[in-house]
Amino acid sequence: MTGDDLQELTRGALEEIAGASDPDQLELVRRKYMARHGGLITAGAAALATVDGDGRAELGRAFNLAKSTVQQALHTRQLELASGGRAADAEREWLDLSHPGAGLDRGHQHPVARLVREIEDIMARLGYESVRGPEIEDDLHNFQLLNMPPEHPARDTHDTFYLAGAEAAWLFRTHTSPVQMRTMLSGRPPFRIIVPGKVARRDNPDPTHIPVFHQVEGLCVDRGVTVGDLKGTLEYLLRALFGPERKVRLRASFFPYTEPSLEADVACGICQGSGCRSCLGKGWMEILGSGMVHPQVLRNGGVDPEQFSGFAFGMGPDRIAVLRYGLPDVRELYENDLRLLEQF
Ligand SMILES: [Zn+2]
Repeated sequence: MTGDDLQELTRGALEEIAGASDPDQLELVRRKYMARHGGLITAGAAALATVDGDGRAELGRAFNLAKSTVQQALHTRQLELASGGRAADAEREWLDLSHPGAGLDRGHQHPVARLVREIEDIMARLGYESVRGPEIEDDLHNFQLLNMPPEHPARDTHDTFYLAGAEAAWLFRTHTSPVQMRTMLSGRPPFRIIVPGKVARRDNPDPTHIPVFHQVEGLCVDRGVTVGDLKGTLEYLLRALFGPERKVRLRASFFPYTEPSLEADVACGICQGSGCRSCLGKGWMEILGSGMVHPQVLRNGGVDPEQFSGFAFGMGPDRIAVLRYGLPDVRELYENDLRLLEQF
């Protein structure tokens, strides 16, 4: 082997090193030229033994140069390929730290809970305090004190769930009105309360009935409270709920615990009063029952009807939610279908 041979081998090695496209290929090139046994360049060491004198020193220098040149090139290429690999990894696993996150789903109130809160807020502006009472009641507070003695025909419309096996006649309250009685019995007038809560009646579920539903009840007792106050309060409440332009009307009605009794209707939101399928051609939607508190009910609550008068009203937020959001079936509110609930 001569110095020229070594230069030729070195050129070949450098070309192949530059051409190696991954660490495995580079290793093959390394073995081909630099393997301790049988490498094309390392074989030059054996050739040294066959050369004498100056030629030997010269060949030795050429050999060392070839070896270090190729080793340097291998090392450099190895680093290039490794960092190229890291670059490829970085390309594949690219992460933009400034990219906005996917966001967390936020919880929110049920549409009926929201409506109840809204009614409480509206009435709070008129000085009404929100009050809760027990869902399990006795016959006295649910019926008798509200002018519905046993056998009273109005009880038929309050198809009642009784608690089986209870010693006293416990029942699931059929309206929120017993809280009126409990409030009057536990304090002194004036009273201005708003009572939201769950009530139950043995109705078969259908598009307009569910056995457990909600009521919001209001009671105002003070000196000199008149039907005019009732009317003004209901108009304020209903316009706050349905919009200032919405027509409101009061009709005579009957409840055992109020005298006179009035029902409030709002103009149908779909046909604006001209009559459509939703309002059964009437142009009005029944929203609320109300009236002046019956003097006997005031007496039953420990309030002297000679000194005080009052009005009460009650409405169903489930029904109002159905009307307001145009739901075809009240049961949809309680089927926990997120496609519906997430719209609120
Ligand atoms: Zn209508």
